[in-house]
Parts: sequence; C-alpha cells; structure tokens
Amino acid sequence: MKTYDVVILGGGASGFMAAGYLAQNSSLKVAIIEGNAKTMQKVKVSGGGRCNFSNVKVDSTHYDGDEAYVSKVLDSFCKDDTLEFFRRRNLKSTIRSDKYYFCKNSADDIMNILKDECSGVTIYLNEKIISVKDGYIVETSKQKLSAKVVIVASGAESFKTLGATSIGLEIAKSFLLSATPFSPALVGLTLQPSQFWMKELSGISLNAKISVGSKVLHEDLLFAHKGISGLVTLSASLYWKKGDLSIDFLPNERVNFNSKKHISTGINLSKRFLKSFLKVCELADKPLNKLDKKESEILLANLHNYTFAPAGTFGLSKAEVCRGGVKTEELSESLESKNNKGLYFIGEVVDVTGELGGYNFQWAFSSAIVCSRNILL
Ligand SMILES: Cc1cc2nc3c(=O)[nH]c(=O)nc-3n(C[C@H](O)[C@H](O)[C@H](O)COP(=O)(O)OP(=O)(O)OC[C@H]3O[C@@H](n4cnc5c(N)ncnc54)[C@H](O)[C@@H]3O)c2cc1C
Repeated sequence: MKTYDVVILGGGASGFMAAGYLAQNSSLKVAIIEGNAKTMQKVKVSGGGRCNFSNVKVDSTHYDGDEAYVSKVLDSFCKDDTLEFFRRRNLKSTIRSDKYYFCKNSADDIMNILKDECSGVTIYLNEKIISVKDGYIVETSKQKLSAKVVIVASGAESFKTLGATSIGLEIAKSFLLSATPFSPALVGLTLQPSQFWMKELSGISLNAKISVGSKVLHEDLLFAHKGISGLVTLSASLYWKKGDLSIDFLPNERVNFNSKKHISTGINLSKRFLKSFLKVCELADKPLNKLDKKESEILLANLHNYTFAPAGTFGLSKAEVCRGGVKTEELSESLESKNNKGLYFIGEVVDVTGELGGYNFQWAFSSAIVCSRNILL
C-alpha cells in the first residue's frame, strides 16, 4: 500500500490550491485523487470559460453559512490575498461590472497556475474515491492508500456531468459528522401556474431587485422557458428555501404619472413585458395621467413588490453550486474535524455557499489555504 503524508480527495479548485500550498511550503508527500480523466473541470467551464475567481467586495454577508465562521476563514486568506497570489504568478485578470474578477484570457490560465504549484504532487486520475477509514486508509476504485492527513475536497453534487458526487457527505457521515443534505443553489426558479405569464416572455431580460427573507439582491433577471433565471435569480435562489419572494421590476426609476403616454410605452421597461404585466394586474393600457388613485397603487405595488412563491428550482443538473454540506460546528477554525485529528473538509463540501460573482472560488481558495497552513504548523 502506498503511503502519503497528505491525501487530497478531489482535484478541483480547493484541492489544487491546498496541494499547491503544501508542495511549495513543505517536503510533505502529497497525493490528489480525482475521478475524472482531467482535473478542475468546474474551473474550466466557470464564468463562461473565463472563471470569475473573486469579487471586489468579499465578506460573510454574501454567503449562506455561519457568518462568524465564514468571516474568520475569509479574513485569514482574503480576496486581496487571492489577487496577490495570482498576480505574482502573472495571471492577467479583468474586472467586469466593477465587481467581478475574471481571467482576461481563459480559465486555463488559473488551471495552469495551480497545476504548476503542484509539481511534486502525485495526481491519480480516473480513480473513484470509495471510502476513508480510520487511520487513515483511503480506498479508491483502483487501490488503497495510507495517509496521516486526509483533506476532503470533493465538492458538492451539482453538475454530475463534471464529476460531482456526494462522496464528501458519505465520508463525513462515516465519521459521524453532521451535515446538511446538498440542495441546488445558484439556479433558476420554476413557477406556479399563476406566474406562467413570465414564461411567455422567455428571452427578455431586465434589471431587477429580488427580496427573499432579509436579503435583497440586485442584478439582471432573465425570463426563461422553464421559469426565471439571470444573475439576480441565481443569487436569490441561494437564500430561497420555500415560500414567497418578491421582485421589484423597476428598482431604479419612478413612474411619471403626469405623462400622457400609455403605460406600455411610458414606463422604461420592454413593451412586451408591460403588455403581459398589465393583464396580470388586470389594468387597461391607458395614458399614465389618466390612472385613478387605485389603479396607480395597483400598478406600483405590482411593479415594485410582485410577490409570489416559486414552485421549485431548475434542479441539480443546472445548479452552479449546492447549498448544504458538512456543518461548520463540526470543524475547527482550520477546517479540521473537531473529533478526528487530521481529517479536513474544504471548499464546497462544507456548509458554506456563496452568491454568484466569484464568491465560491474565493471560499474554495480561502478554506484550502487556512487548512494547509494548519497542517504545516
Ligand atoms: C457551470 C458552473 C460555473 C461556475 N462558475 C463559477 C464562477 O464563475 N465563480 C465561482 O466562484 N464559482 C463558480 N462555480 C462554482 C465553483 O465551480 C465551485 O464552487 C468550486 O469549483 C468548488 O470547488 P471545490 O474544490 O470545493 O469542488 P470542485 O471544484 O467541484 O472539485 C471537486 C472534485 O472532486 C472530484 N470528485 C467528486 N467526487 C469524487 C469521487 N467520488 N471520486 C473521485 N473524485 C471525485 C470531482 O470530479 C472534482 O474534480 C461554477 C460552477 C459551475 C457548475
């Protein structure tokens, strides 16, 4: 049986960041086990092939998870550290919409940097992780490995086509760690029949705010054949569990009730949207200055606070991430299992999930570095 100091389960963003740190800062014998023929397949497709790897404003308010815990990890390796890490390795990056850090050329640039960091690390490909036993003994579809330290970096369950499995939660369960089941997040939302009018607007997008619980998200909303999607819906889906959410279709403007224009042309929204919307509000398309008080109130209430309960989500196959994972109360501030010394969980397998916009890679990198530093203490 081969023996390693550290075996990392999963060759994705967090696994590679952890392996790279250990390889560059120690002489530990490190191995990564990856089920796919190629590593980092989510990095490859992320951000439309340009990987949105961090955000201008990273803090725990953009994550679903224990805020104090998330803050500690993010503060230990913050977005500036991530930027500096990649800048020193000559990554060409760009900021989009004043918020999102993307690779200027291709996600391959990040993958190549992380692969270079991992020279000296043994990488086993096409090998399914089956179990981890006390000691630690890692069983894969091809062999058994012995390790002093195991880092579970196997991600969550969305996009099975890219290699995702629930093995991380199965391993956690076998060590009696409590976990929240994975469920789709950063995903489009399906509609109840009373909102099917939105499906007919498939292809139209508008700038909107969605309020869900205490969270207010503001970005573009896209009407889709299956329901609603777009950046604002995906981020809202992170906080939506069941029940109502509300949409402000006109967050940046006031309606001019002195205008002689009809509603469908006098409000700065697509005419096709307004025509359908008026039917839903049971209002006639008439000049804005001819609306009585009650009609104006109905119009404003629906435009700024259209409240409904989505039917569900577009599902795991379409979700960028999963909510849920190993509960942070089971882990030390260094991502180590409190009751199992040498067993770590990092990245998306932990019950911390970010909004859309680079937050999830930032979490993957921060948790990987915090864990690796602790291993070298
Ligand atoms: C289409 C898409 C676009 C995205 N875009 C962005 C973006 O632009 N910005 C952002 O911040 N986030 C984005 N994300 C989310 C981001 O990719 C993940 O949050 C991040 O990759 C998590 O890193 P990780 O290392 O925890 O897990 P992963 O990157 O998922 O890595 C886990 C690895 O473990 C392997 N594995 C799993 N089970 C087994 C097993 N049983 N045996 C062997 N190997 C196994 C997997 O094949 C995988 O390689 C996107 C996700 C998707 C699906």
